Amino acid sequence: MTKPKGGTPSIISTSQGEQMAFLERSDEFIRAVAASFDAYLEIDRNGKICEFSRRAEQLLLRDRSEVVGREFSVLAPNEDLDLISNNGSESFANFEWQHLIEMGPRGPISLTKEYVLVDSQNKELLCEVVSFVVPGEPSSRVAIWIRDISDIRRNEEALAASFLHDPLTNLPSRTMFTYQLSYALVRHQDIPGRVAVLLCDVDRFKGLNDSLGHDAGDEALVALAQRLKSIVRPKDVVARFGGDEFLILCEGPLAGATATHLAKRISEILSQPMAVKGQDVYASVSIGIATSSTNASDAAALISNADSAMYLAKRRGGNRYAMFNDSLRTEVVTRTSLENSLHRALERDELVVYFQPVVNLNSLKVVGVEALVRWNHPDQGLMAPDSFIPTAEETGLIVPIGAWVLNCACQTMESWNQGSQGSNHDEIPCEPFAYTPGSGGLVEVNLSGRQIGDPDIVATVAEAINKSSMRPDQLVLEITESTLMDDPEAALSVLEDLKTLGVKLAVDDFGTGFSSLAYLHKFPIDVLKVDKSFVMEMGNRDEDTAIVRAVIDLGHTLGLEIVAEGVETSNQMEILQSLGCDMAQGYLFSHPLPASSLLVLENS
Ligand code: C2E
Ligand code: MG
Ligand code: MG
Repeated sequence: MTKPKGGTPSIISTSQGEQMAFLERSDEFIRAVAASFDAYLEIDRNGKICEFSRRAEQLLLRDRSEVVGREFSVLAPNEDLDLISNNGSESFANFEWQHLIEMGPRGPISLTKEYVLVDSQNKELLCEVVSFVVPGEPSSRVAIWIRDISDIRRNEEALAASFLHDPLTNLPSRTMFTYQLSYALVRHQDIPGRVAVLLCDVDRFKGLNDSLGHDAGDEALVALAQRLKSIVRPKDVVARFGGDEFLILCEGPLAGATATHLAKRISEILSQPMAVKGQDVYASVSIGIATSSTNASDAAALISNADSAMYLAKRRGGNRYAMFNDSLRTEVVTRTSLENSLHRALERDELVVYFQPVVNLNSLKVVGVEALVRWNHPDQGLMAPDSFIPTAEETGLIVPIGAWVLNCACQTMESWNQGSQGSNHDEIPCEPFAYTPGSGGLVEVNLSGRQIGDPDIVATVAEAINKSSMRPDQLVLEITESTLMDDPEAALSVLEDLKTLGVKLAVDDFGTGFSSLAYLHKFPIDVLKVDKSFVMEMGNRDEDTAIVRAVIDLGHTLGLEIVAEGVETSNQMEILQSLGCDMAQGYLFSHPLPASSLLVLENS
């Protein structure tokens, strides 16, 4: 058995076995009692006090000499002190110690009670009293520990209060809201539609925080909370869900209609600017509304439905509201099932990487390949990335998936470097440019916004390169223009870090993301990939040819190489050649193919 060593051990929290060991009056035990912040006293089987620690003297305001050898009832309340049970019904002096002894081993092993200790100045301390029988020869004793738990309880209560209230806006917290919503749902459980939840999310709040600072962001949230409070009915609940999200609960026969009316009112009041740090700030919110139904009868389900509707409002451009309905329900179910099976796709090896050659437009030789992921879905067959990459992005699964694609691409490139070639030559579709670049070519890998935001991205890329032992400058990382423009400053810092690894960087889908030229110049990029939407219209629409020409000229001025995406016809290829475009990829040359279906041709 272990005995506590030094410090201020608390017997109250030790196991029963250890308590017994303690009570053999070892020196260690005596020292522990003397040092403990808990008061200790002992009563013999005749009710006489036989131990009374120094802490007991302080807590119970009695001298040891006054009480040792006397009846337990000597601790009866006096004008200095009373110790009464928490509900006020029992005084400590009436504590039924005899009961414990009489029951002996058959009875309760220990008793724990709370008492309030009130001194002559009416100061109250909350005490936890733990008592237990110490069996012994010739007679048993009762040991009692008294611990002042006032501070612990105060902290617990403060914690509980902060748990239930948001300290910034002073609104009920998400926990509190969930309680209130649960009760509302119980009250109206027989009648669907009598409870409605609005989930409001501030549009582009991050931009506001970044441009005006976090203090201003906080101020804006407080102002917004006040505006929301000012328009709801007294019985509606407004709560802070967290971050820049607020929840409103409406109850009653017309809950759905009230919620819609409120959503419109919210847009109206937010059309007026809020004064934040002396500036006029305009904020808008996207609102999702869900009403109780047989399908959403608990708080979590209703909030989750409101959340789905809020995302729909965001997808439609923000600053609007959307109602949760059956079609949204179907979408959520489909997405959830996609999410679940995507989780398993990696584990079950269902993802595959296809490669699409990139061709030099001068030599018409393959100079690289772009790695493009596909999902070999057990029921739905080969799925294109557009059908699952957005979900992978939303769930964050793109981070492990992206790392897997990266590793696979680097390993494949390394095997080409080593001179191994695709094995299924007979199965090659009849495409004139289905070649890998041979040793020394490039492999291009797409990185999503979530991956750029992943703190481990640089380490992940470094590891993939090291594991494959390919040259770092054979790897081109593609980031779409819209990802770069989402948070240019943050992207710039990640790209600079990636660049130190010696890799090349490309801006993908260029022309679709409203780049600011000032930023393009700042980014450490090597390649611009002109989006296929412009390339495919070249020859049909003059303005698209003009855009492609402008991008090629701009890129060359900045010292970048230009790749045209989506080249499907010889005419498009010839126009690109005449415009001085460096490289191209597209169905004219080859569809994306599995590594095993690409031929290795010597790039002589
Ligand atoms: P992207 O990076 O712009 O890739 C080019 C897309 O254009 C590919 O679509 C390719 O198959 C398609 N394409 C190539 N040539 C032609 C053509 O001549 N005509 C037409 N109409 N299309 C052509 P895919 O493979 O469906 O990929 C779509 C997008 O999915 C990619 O666009 C990329 O943004 C994303 N993606 C693919 N793999 C990954 C990945 O591993 N990670 C991430 N984050 N995104 C990926
Ligand atoms: Mg790409
Ligand atoms: Mg692209």
